[in-house]
Amino acid sequence: MNEYQLTRPWRNVVRLKAIQRASRHLTLERLAATSYRVRSASHPEHYYYVQIDPAMLTGVCSCLWAHYGGVNCKHVLAVLRAYYAACGELSFWADPKEARRQHRPIIVGTYLYATVRR
Ligand SMILES: [Zn+2]
Repeated sequence: MNEYQLTRPWRNVVRLKAIQRASRHLTLERLAATSYRVRSASHPEHYYYVQIDPAMLTGVCSCLWAHYGGVNCKHVLAVLRAYYAACGELSFWADPKEARRQHRPIIVGTYLYATVRR
């Protein structure tokens, strides 16, 4: 196992808040129940395709960052927020203790927690 594999699960932890902020300004369109396309922020003529597993708060994205092993890219977070929009506004947390501190309903995912503000 190399260093990259060892650190990989923590990428979303380190940059989660920054990625979450970036995810708020994306334009997306639902294609099917859990499939969306998200307009690229830097190249508006380009779309990324995202398939989510909403119960696990995970997703697969066609962007380069995801291709090289990044998890929970801003496109996946944007799609998860859109998917749950009828329930409220999601905030993402890497640490379950931080999530519980919000005193809101929590969705427990894989390496990721979301609190729901109704
Ligand atoms: Zn992506």
